[in-house]
Amino acid sequence: MTIATAPEAIRASGLRVTESRSAVYAALRARPHASADEVYAAVAERMPQTSRQSVYNALNDFADAGLARRIEPAGRPMLFELRVGDNHHHLVCTACGRVEDVDCAVGHTPCLHPSDDHGFEVASAEVTYWGRCAACAASAARAAS
Ligand SMILES: [Zn+2]
Ligand SMILES: [Zn+2]
Repeated sequence: MTIATAPEAIRASGLRVTESRSAVYAALRARPHASADEVYAAVAERMPQTSRQSVYNALNDFADAGLARRIEPAGRPMLFELRVGDNHHHLVCTACGRVEDVDCAVGHTPCLHPSDDHGFEVASAEVTYWGRCAACAASAARAAS
C-alpha cells in the first residue's frame, strides 16, 4: 500500500492545498488521536508563524471533507485522526489519556444494531471503552504494594 503525500491526500479530498494544511496533515499522521492544541504545537515547531486559528481551521476543514475524523471522548478535548471510514472504536485510559484504536470485534459494524433503535435509521456508531492502560494499571499496582 502506498501512502499518499500530504498534498496528494488533501487534493484528493477536494480541498485546496496550502502550506499550513500540509503541515497539519503531516503532524496528524505522526500523531494519531491528537488534540487541536497538540497538532498546533507540532506544526508551530516547524512553522512558528502558523496561527492557532489556521491549524483549527485546517482540522475542521479536514473533518468536514472526510479526510480526518473527530473523536470526542466525554470530558476530554476533541481529538483528530486520519483513520476514517472504518467505524473503528477507541480505548481511552482514564489515568493518562492514552488512546488506542480498536477494530470492530465481530466483522461488519456490529454496533450498528442497537437492541432497540426506536425507529431510527442508524448511520454510524461510536464506542469508547474507558479504563486504565497497561502502564497505568502496572504503576497503580506498584503504588498499592
Ligand atoms: Zn494510562
Ligand atoms: Zn482511532
